[in-house]
Amino acid sequence: MERLLYDFIYLLIKSAQDGQDRSSLCEGFLKALSLYFPVISLRIFMMDEYSFQLKDFVKPWENLSNIEESENIKKKFDNFLIQKSSYEIEKDILYFPIVQKNKTLGLVEVKSREDFDNQNDFFKILPLAAAQISLLCGALKSEEQIKISSKFHQTVRNIAKITETQYELDYILPIMGEMIDGFIQEHLIYIFIKNKSKKEYKLIWPKKCSDDRIYSYLEEINSKSQTLIKQDGKMGIFPLIIDSKPYGAIVAYNHFDKITKKEIEYLEEIKSQAQTTLERAKSYIEVLEYATLDALTGYNNRHQFEKRLKETIAAAKRQNQPLCCIMSDIDYFKKVNDTYGHAVGDCVLKNVAKIIKKELRESDIPSRYGGEEFIFLLPHTNLEEAEIVAQRLKNAVENKKINIEEYNIKDTKEISVTVSIGVSEYDKTDKDPQMLYKKADSALYEAKETGRNKVVVFGD
Ligand code: GH3
Ligand code: MG
Ligand code: MG
Repeated sequence: MERLLYDFIYLLIKSAQDGQDRSSLCEGFLKALSLYFPVISLRIFMMDEYSFQLKDFVKPWENLSNIEESENIKKKFDNFLIQKSSYEIEKDILYFPIVQKNKTLGLVEVKSREDFDNQNDFFKILPLAAAQISLLCGALKSEEQIKISSKFHQTVRNIAKITETQYELDYILPIMGEMIDGFIQEHLIYIFIKNKSKKEYKLIWPKKCSDDRIYSYLEEINSKSQTLIKQDGKMGIFPLIIDSKPYGAIVAYNHFDKITKKEIEYLEEIKSQAQTTLERAKSYIEVLEYATLDALTGYNNRHQFEKRLKETIAAAKRQNQPLCCIMSDIDYFKKVNDTYGHAVGDCVLKNVAKIIKKELRESDIPSRYGGEEFIFLLPHTNLEEAEIVAQRLKNAVENKKINIEEYNIKDTKEISVTVSIGVSEYDKTDKDPQMLYKKADSALYEAKETGRNKVVVFGD
C-alpha cells in the first residue's frame, strides 16, 4: 500500500508538471487513479460562473448533450454543494467534488469496470486524490484566466496602435477582425460596415458570412443602440457608433454556447477601443488629404501615389520615354503577424521598404499602396530593365535578415521574408492611367499563384 501511495502521489505531481493543458492533466489523473482501480474514464465538470452551466473541463464547447446525463450530473453537483459530502457512488461510477477554499467548483466522474463498493484501499487515497485534483484544476483555471486577461489587454492595446501605421479603413478593419478573432477564439467574429450610399450593411471581415439572420438583426441598430443579444444568447451584436451615427458592428456568434457575461464585457471594451481607433483613422484621413508620405515606410502614401501616377504618365507621353511599374507583396505576411505579433509585422514592413529603397534609383517613385503592398514607378525604364530591377529587389529582400531582437521573441533573433513581384510597362494606347498598375497587379497575382518569391512580367 505504501509503495502504491508513493507512486500515486508521484504520478499526480508529474501530471501537474507535464500537464500543460486540460486534457493532459486529465490523462495524468486517470493514469494515477488506475494504480488503484480498473478505471475506464475520468471526466471533470466545472461550473461556469457566467453561464451557470456545468461544462466539460476538457472540451471547450461542450455542454452535456444528453439531457438525462446532464440532469444527473447537475443533481450530483447540487448534492455536493448542499451536503458537502466527499463522494457519491453509483455502482461502477464514482463522483467526488472539486472544492477550493470551501467553494464547490465542479465535480469529477470516474467510471470503472468493477463496482466501487468493495475497494477499501481506494477510499484511503480518495481524499488525497480529490484534494490534489481540486488544487491542480483550480490552479490551471486561474492561470488560464490570467493568460486571457493579459491577451485581452494586449488586443485592446494593439487595436489602439493600428492607426500608428495604417489609416486606410480597407486595411484597418481586416486587421482588427484578425486581432479580435485571435482573442475570442470560441466564437465566429464578423465585422460589418454600413455602406453610406446604399444604407445597407456590408461584411468586411472575414470573407464570408452565410448567416442571413445577422443582416436582419443589423437593421435594428440605431444611433443609441447598445449591445444586442440574439439567438437565445448565442449571438452578440456590438454596434459601432461614430459621430452619433450607426457606422457598423462587430458580431460574435457561437453555435454551441451562450455568449458569457465576461465575453460580453471583453467585447464591449474591444468595441469601444475599435470605435476610438476608427474615429481617429477618419480624422487622420481628413488631415492626410494634405499629407504625402506614409508614416511607417516613408514612401508616398496612396493618395500621393495616384497623383504621381498621373504626372509621371503625362511626362512619359510628353517626352516619349518608356515607363514601367513594379508591384510587390510580401509572401505569407499574415503568418509573420500570427507567429510574432503585429509589432514585429510592422518592423518587417518597415525593413522591407528600406531594403528595397536601397536598390532603387533617385528618380524611381516608391509608394505604399496599402498593407504590405508596395508600388514603384520607374520613369525612363523599359520592360527588360524593369525586370532586372525587379529581380534585384526580390533577391535583396530574400537575402537580408531582419533583426527583431528588441521584441524579445524566444529563440528568434532575426527573420527573413520574401516578396512576389509583378512588372508592367506603360502602353500609350491605354486611356486609363490605372491600367499601368492593374497590369502589374495581375502579373503579381500570377507570381503568387505560381509559387511566390518570384518576378512575373505582364504579357510574357
Ligand atoms: P500572400 O500575400 O503570400 O498570399 O499571403 P499573405 O499572408 O501576405 O496574405 P494577405 O495579403 O491576405 O495578408 C496580408 C496581411 O498583412 C493581412 C494583415 O494582417 C497584414 N497587414 C496589412 N497591413 C499591415 C500593417 O500595417 N502592419 C502589420 N503588422 N500587418 C499588416
Ligand atoms: Mg497582400
Ligand atoms: Mg502578402
